[in-house]
Amino acid sequence: MNPSATRPRVIIVGSGFGGLFAARALAKADVDVRLIARTTHHLFQPLLYQVATGILTPGEIAPATREVLARQENVQVEMGDVTGIDLAGRTVTAVTLGVPRTYGYDHLIVAAGADQSWFGNDQFAEFAPGMKSVDDALELRGRIFGAFELAELAAASGHHDEAAALTTFVVVGAGPTGVEMAGQLAELSRRTLKNDFRHIDPRDAKIYLMDAADAVLGSFDESLRGKTQAALEKLGIDVLLGAKVVDVDARGIDYEDRDGERHRIEALTKVWAAGVAASPLARQLAEQVGLEVDRAGRIPALPDLTLPGHPEVYVVGDMVSLDGLPGVAQVAIQQARYAARKIRATLGGDQVTEPFSYFDKGNMATISRFRAIAEIGKLKVTGFPAWVLWLAVHLVYIIGFKSRVTTLLHWLVSFLGRGRSERNITEQQIFGRIAMNRVGNIPERAGRNVGWLADEADEDEPREAPAG
Ligand SMILES: Cc1cc2nc3c(=O)[nH]c(=O)nc-3n(C[C@H](O)[C@H](O)[C@H](O)COP(=O)(O)OP(=O)(O)OC[C@H]3O[C@@H](n4cnc5c(N)ncnc54)[C@H](O)[C@@H]3O)c2cc1C
Repeated sequence: MNPSATRPRVIIVGSGFGGLFAARALAKADVDVRLIARTTHHLFQPLLYQVATGILTPGEIAPATREVLARQENVQVEMGDVTGIDLAGRTVTAVTLGVPRTYGYDHLIVAAGADQSWFGNDQFAEFAPGMKSVDDALELRGRIFGAFELAELAAASGHHDEAAALTTFVVVGAGPTGVEMAGQLAELSRRTLKNDFRHIDPRDAKIYLMDAADAVLGSFDESLRGKTQAALEKLGIDVLLGAKVVDVDARGIDYEDRDGERHRIEALTKVWAAGVAASPLARQLAEQVGLEVDRAGRIPALPDLTLPGHPEVYVVGDMVSLDGLPGVAQVAIQQARYAARKIRATLGGDQVTEPFSYFDKGNMATISRFRAIAEIGKLKVTGFPAWVLWLAVHLVYIIGFKSRVTTLLHWLVSFLGRGRSERNITEQQIFGRIAMNRVGNIPERAGRNVGWLADEADEDEPREAPAG
């Protein structure tokens, strides 16, 4: 791009669904677009759980934003953490490797999304990581596959309680992400890994799906909730509802049931899929225009997605509260396209007068291989047809032809066969960076801290090479 001195400058913050689709919708506009995002990729968050469970590669769900927009000459992509937006001065400040840069804008689209929320208990994050980024998914992949490896060693040395805790998995949050994650953990342990170990039977792994609410998939129709719960239980997943998490540590999780009675599950691997908090940029903007953010930190936008007194600033996606719309990809995409349409209209001296309105294309979630649920208007689809629909929709929305082809191949491998192409874990991941370091309560070297592992290492004499 050759930024001109005269073309209007559009800054887009974020390369998620909102940011990327806004940039694309400005492809033919006579503007200079600067897209600034913390990561260099566009992340397809709905498939993160498939990276965490070894089905897909990070590259398939997170193509480089620069590559996706390479042919769009009016866009410049920049890696940077936006730390400040000055609405009065019309500037955005981004920081990269500690170095700040400030840019002026004529139009601004803020699509900074949301982060995981542990509901005020950020100390849980270390032991029950969320799933919002590629790093999170790889961290979880390390913890999950690493737990089976360690369980094999524990069982081999007779430490069966330890092996049981290592092969107990707790997923907190029974929304679509939690359901999909629990379902895949069941598939992984019951199908993929079933022949691979000698001292443990991965099929004995215990999987809990826990939620403080009284139903799984609270945002879906009641009939689908019941079916989903039954399907999860058929997969051997313990669904604990009305269960409020009160503590999480390296070795387990404590929760209170509906009667306020406290229980504990010994489980080394926990996954937090329970809550989100909007980007802090929402609060920063709200304070400048005298608005209050909601409990999830989202900014209440005007019906045309702008801010009071600032028709040049749009907020879209997960960081916005408007008409009770859910934090889903379609909302971010449609809002981004609407904001871009308004900007394009302004350039031609026109105006888009109608407010943003959302077209609900439906809701879907997979439970396991060949089983999903979908809600499209009044139509409710379950089982295999819903799963095929789910496959098709996700393939359409995965960015890039290459990724679509390789994703389809990986799905064939995993769903028709038993395999998972992405089971490898690096040494850094095998101990789940921090969590496994805490086993034995000494933070330096995981292996040395696991009493039974160190004992075994000392006792095991080298064997002579077999004759011949
Ligand atoms: C695990 C998971 C599963 C999901 N499953 C589904 C599903 O099945 N269906 C569905 O419709 N929705 C699903 N969602 C929700 C959906 O992904 C979000 O609604 C959607 O991503 C919102 O788009 P967004 O652009 O608002 O935010 P995001 O896609 O989160 O993008 C935010 C962008 O802003 C960048 N950013 C954040 N802060 C800054 C900053 N300060 N400076 C610079 N850049 C910044 C981030 O790096 C990112 O590029 C899922 C979400 C998760 C986490």
